Amino acid sequence: MSEGYDPVQLGRAVYEKVCKIIDGVEYRRYYRFRGGKWYGGIATGDVVGCNLRCKFCWSWSRGSYRTDTGQFYSPDEALKKILTIALERGYRYIRLSGAEPTLSKLHLLQMLDKLESMNVKIKFILETNGIEIGLDDDFARKLCKYSRLIVRVSIKGTSPETFHKITGAKKEYFQIQLKALEKLIEYGMKPGEQVYPAVMLSFSTDDEIENFLDMLRNIHPALAENIDPEYVILYPHVVELLKRNALKPRIAYTPDNIPQFMI
Ligand code: SF4
Repeated sequence: MSEGYDPVQLGRAVYEKVCKIIDGVEYRRYYRFRGGKWYGGIATGDVVGCNLRCKFCWSWSRGSYRTDTGQFYSPDEALKKILTIALERGYRYIRLSGAEPTLSKLHLLQMLDKLESMNVKIKFILETNGIEIGLDDDFARKLCKYSRLIVRVSIKGTSPETFHKITGAKKEYFQIQLKALEKLIEYGMKPGEQVYPAVMLSFSTDDEIENFLDMLRNIHPALAENIDPEYVILYPHVVELLKRNALKPRIAYTPDNIPQFMI
């Protein structure tokens, strides 16, 4: 096995702290509910706890690296808070963000079940690093039954080596992220519409990016045509984390200069 931590083991340890099941309902820690400009307007529940430790993570100090913050919410309670924000502000999208929503699979599925049964014109964007989906056939199949769900798999880097460099995790898990895209397409999601890749490009060379595009084309050509490029945003707490890890992005943006294509 290669160097680095194992995201599955980390995810299990984090799960114990940020999730709990009471009477068949899975509760998850959330640190914030908010509206915002992303996706043209979206209501967000920011969950606590992640199975990766990305060295550029924007939410490391408040959510992703944490297990001890926020409060537990049931899927119904969290959905109600998120939908209230969306409906008050006229948004068409809602999401879970801030850390890794798929650590609490039952919570997520119970939330999607509830949304599916409601008469609202809202789409749910699942922002995920894809590892739990890539490793779990049954979970991937279940996600594919929801008509309102869009899955945005956020790939960390463009090669196993870059993945390891920027997350510190074992490089094998890079391919598991790609597996998530593959499985969701295999089980029925439309590539480029219901499932698409976001990719952290700040640390990759042009050649690496070209190779990566070929990897996506091998899964489905529509994936390479529908990438959401991600670059590091130099919030002060992100700069601190990058320094701590002696990591330098090739391309990054300041918070007052975020390009339109990232919003
Ligand atoms: S996967 Fe996302 S939330 Fe988790 S550490 Fe990486 S950037 Fe942060």
